[in-house]
Amino acid sequence: MFRMRLFSLLLIFLLTVPSVYCGETVSDALGPEDAKTVDTILEKLKITMEYKRNEGTLAVLSYEELYLPLNDTEKKFLKDLQALSPEALGIKTPHLGIPQNMPDLVKIENQPVMKDGKPFPVSTQYLPRKVYEQYELMMKAMEKELGTRLYVESGYRSPAYQLYLFIFYLVQHKYSVKETARWNAFPGYSEHGYPDKQAIDFISQDGVSGEENPALFEKLVEYEWLVKYAAEYHFKMSYPRDNPMGIGFEPWHWRYDETPETRKNKS
Ligand SMILES: [Zn+2]
Repeated sequence: MFRMRLFSLLLIFLLTVPSVYCGETVSDALGPEDAKTVDTILEKLKITMEYKRNEGTLAVLSYEELYLPLNDTEKKFLKDLQALSPEALGIKTPHLGIPQNMPDLVKIENQPVMKDGKPFPVSTQYLPRKVYEQYELMMKAMEKELGTRLYVESGYRSPAYQLYLFIFYLVQHKYSVKETARWNAFPGYSEHGYPDKQAIDFISQDGVSGEENPALFEKLVEYEWLVKYAAEYHFKMSYPRDNPMGIGFEPWHWRYDETPETRKNKS
């Protein structure tokens, strides 16, 4: 079923000259059978995800672990989904690729985020070493000026975890692949899985994040500080309001990006 849908999506894309493609012509909510497959996959993966979360290794989930509890149809569904072209869905983010080797990651545990006066658990996160070092430098500067800092709600994500997240959010977006793609990247297209442009989703000390409250994040003094100073630490906001990539405004999502000058000096 999904293969048929996939084929027709690509056909629609091919029949539509990209320059006049308005991004609105694809009606893409999954049919009941595919939606049921998604539900089944999520149900089957519950134990794996719970285990990985408790172990603090959810963000580095492998494809092997992802596929282990699934049957052939379910595996194929995920593989077809991953092969889908974001361009056909109106997404214009560049293909970054999937790094061959696992980067040198720093594990970030027990971040002291509080919410409504109580500790707010943030799952264990990972960042490539050089990105972690810049992030810590930036936070020291922020703390010095504001007395508060930001923490990492989401850092590095393996491609398998990115794929899992996509179907997890599919349900929340009424099984619309297109709407989900506006908010959650495909593996290979996510800055969370690409160490050279590693993205961090920030959460404030008192628990304000994009996940919890997108509108509130933009009002934070910490956000204002980032807009002013993040570039000094090689962090850039990837998806400003009304960005040409077709991605929703994400004031909490900043990527590590060396300036051309820095890159020139290093190479
Ligand atoms: Zn993000």
